[in-house]
Amino acid sequence: MTSHTLPAREATTPDYASSFAVEVDLDAVAGNVAALRDRVAGADVMAVVKADAYGHGLIPAARAALRGGAAALGVAQLGEAVAARDAGIDAPMLTWLYSPGADVAGALSRGIEVTVSSQWQLDSVVDAARESGATAPIHLKVDTGLARGGALLDDAGSSAWHDLVAAVAPLAAEGVIRVEGMWQHFVYADAPEHPTVRGQQKTFHEAVRIAERTGIHPGRLHIANSAATLTNPSAYLDMVRPGLAVYGLSPVPDLGRPEDYGLREAMRLTARLSLVKRVKAGQGVSYGHTWHADRDTVIGLVPMGYADGIPRSAGNLGPIQVAGGPHTPLAGRVCMDQIMVDLGPDFAGSAGDEVVIFGRGGDGEPTAQDWAEAAGTINYEIVTRLAPRATRRYVGEGSA
Ligand SMILES: *Cc1c(COP(=O)(O)O)cnc(C)c1O
Repeated sequence: MTSHTLPAREATTPDYASSFAVEVDLDAVAGNVAALRDRVAGADVMAVVKADAYGHGLIPAARAALRGGAAALGVAQLGEAVAARDAGIDAPMLTWLYSPGADVAGALSRGIEVTVSSQWQLDSVVDAARESGATAPIHLKVDTGLARGGALLDDAGSSAWHDLVAAVAPLAAEGVIRVEGMWQHFVYADAPEHPTVRGQQKTFHEAVRIAERTGIHPGRLHIANSAATLTNPSAYLDMVRPGLAVYGLSPVPDLGRPEDYGLREAMRLTARLSLVKRVKAGQGVSYGHTWHADRDTVIGLVPMGYADGIPRSAGNLGPIQVAGGPHTPLAGRVCMDQIMVDLGPDFAGSAGDEVVIFGRGGDGEPTAQDWAEAAGTINYEIVTRLAPRATRRYVGEGSA
């Protein structure tokens, strides 16, 4: 009888770099922040680094954004802020998403600024502040119409905002909390002429006046995401809060490309062909044979699939570029780990050749925006959905 020994579990992160790479250019991140700063001259930039910096990597992207002149960082989840602090990021940082039971005390003890948009959030901040004896820095969030976070000025008969600022005022006077800022978020910032844009700004300023009448000093006002930062100077106020633009993507693809705003895509997704083969006219490709060769041709296999974040809905549509050539749509469905591409009958390359899935439109490469259109989604989703298996590789200052 032979005895079998199971192989030891890999102790290290597997390296798929020979198959595909997510290249993140930290100089592009820094340069984009610098460009945004120039645009809003007079206002500060809070670079939003939530969702692992839109898939670019929280810590390296945060450092690059600060190098580019960001005055502060913004994250959604309280836990993301804690992770950034514990990795040594000491810049001013704001968080806006947590549920009852979150470690608010832990965030405050790390000097993280916490958004408050309801009474229970105020209570948990006040409890933590009284326990530690330190003043808690907070930002108050107004719901001006998105009906997401924030307190409404008029919620079916009462005013959550009025009640909230009435509760905040004595606590601020006592020094338990300090109001560092007030903010809101747009419904339609990507359609700058939409009437809700001006309407929300009006409601926001009304909310600030209500707060001031209770004796609160409102601190810094910030209401502009990337789209408003690129299209609506009246929304700059004290600080802007861009995310997508920091990574060099346009939040308003119908109005302008990244390069029209002085931005450069920071992320490039590339892979190496793992197989190249001739097929006859009529050959169906991939599950369900939704694509057939209309002539004898050469098919290439790219070793990435929906498990890596390639949207399955982009089957037969998502564009790929081989060796600087034309953009070629996928041949057939996206599989879990693989996609196929029609390289054409005259393809002279071989396995190992680099393909660009998305990168820099200004350099003639397919873009995250092209993939968004192919998949029926937005460029935000294309970059944030890349899975951990797609290892990030950094270039530019700070990549070592
Ligand atoms: C994500 C987010 C931002 C940044 O939005 P972009 O459209 O990526 O610029 C700003 N503020 C809040 C509250 C957000 O959730």
